[in-house]
Amino acid sequence: MSALNLPKPAWRTEEHDMLAESTRAFLAKEFVPNLDRWSEAGVMDRDAWIKAADAGLLAASIPEAYGGAGGDYSHESVIAHEIAMAGADSWGWAIHGPIVAPYILHYGTEEQKKAWLPKMATGELIAALAMTEPGAGSDVQGIRTKAERSGNGWVLNGSKTFITNGQHANMVVVAAKTDPSAGAKGTSLFVVETENAPGFRRGRKLKKLGLDWADTSELFFDDMKLPAEALLGPEPNQGFYQMMRALPQERLIIAGGAIGMIERALMLTIAYVKERGAFGKKVIDFQNTQFELADMKTEATMAKAFYETCVGLHLHGQCDTVMASMAKYKLTDLQNTIVDRCLQLFGGYGFMDEYPISRMYRDARIQRIYGGTNEIMKILIARSL
Ligand SMILES: Cc1cc2nc3c(=O)[nH]c(=O)nc-3n(C[C@H](O)[C@H](O)[C@H](O)COP(=O)(O)OP(=O)(O)OC[C@H]3O[C@@H](n4cnc5c(N)ncnc54)[C@H](O)[C@@H]3O)c2cc1C
Repeated sequence: MSALNLPKPAWRTEEHDMLAESTRAFLAKEFVPNLDRWSEAGVMDRDAWIKAADAGLLAASIPEAYGGAGGDYSHESVIAHEIAMAGADSWGWAIHGPIVAPYILHYGTEEQKKAWLPKMATGELIAALAMTEPGAGSDVQGIRTKAERSGNGWVLNGSKTFITNGQHANMVVVAAKTDPSAGAKGTSLFVVETENAPGFRRGRKLKKLGLDWADTSELFFDDMKLPAEALLGPEPNQGFYQMMRALPQERLIIAGGAIGMIERALMLTIAYVKERGAFGKKVIDFQNTQFELADMKTEATMAKAFYETCVGLHLHGQCDTVMASMAKYKLTDLQNTIVDRCLQLFGGYGFMDEYPISRMYRDARIQRIYGGTNEIMKILIARSL
């Protein structure tokens, strides 16, 4: 089911098709009927995370030894596509599975993997990633949250903002300075379990332009005592290096969501213009409509082919920062233009909440900002010139 007619990429097997089908069926049953209610409430049901875990969506690339499905990024990519096609863009799924789980898997000690990954797979732990602070977003080096040694452990102080899953998360990967004199190299990541944890406080669930049911929030850490095992990996001051290595996958998964929304926008728009009448014709009969859609389909096809090439490279560890930055930047930009052009073809109905294209227009906007702004992506690409 796609508005594009690309052949399957080499990495896609029948198993991926089955995963796509089961994810689609799950979302249609457990998510889609609730989207309006969650949007009104500004937050999804916590229970939906558990149902998603039971359906295998939270641990696609966690190895079986740690309770996961033993897949890889290609499986995460398939799920991301289905989430976007279902219109569940507000869900902070990507932070939990394809973003935080690899931090634990790649940098955690064996004890840490055993402690956290199985619980992430079952949804007992819901993850958040807390880098951004009120005074430091793009400039991650400028963070002021700090962790100081205290006995065998650490004491964490600072505040974070714009944190996806901020209300539901009970496991937060926090970036903090452990050696402020060393600049970026003095950063460490801590895995903070928040249940009944003195010194941890959730702030406001932030009101936003889009992603209505995403519980994006502020988080506060006031003299929060952490055990030695909360430090991710065996030694401190590895955080910046750990974040840099994780970024290509974070950027790819955002690009994957962009392609999903682009395909959904095209499908919804093609169906609408074939139904809607004006001047005794259908809107599809106007040459402007045909040229608009032909142009968008061409751009979307090129974008998807590029994304799938990036996925193939990434599966072999060959999608570097530049490729991933190009995918994130160009696909999210394209997502915004295509959704805008599609909305135009809906006329006034495109501005109405009951038409999904209107929600997509709002939800698309953040894609150019989080995961590294598109300006930062261009800086990274420019370094390769
Ligand atoms: C809905 C939502 C969810 C988010 N989820 C998370 C999350 O889960 N975890 C997390 O840690 N963060 C999260 N963020 C934060 C997000 O990653 C940051 O907002 C983003 O990195 C930009 O940082 P900033 O907002 O401080 O903007 P700034 O860094 O202040 O940027 C402002 C403007 O300046 C531009 N700019 C900055 N530096 C340069 C430069 N060197 N050259 C040219 N232009 C530049 C930027 O591109 C931007 O246009 C989320 C944000 C939102 C809105």
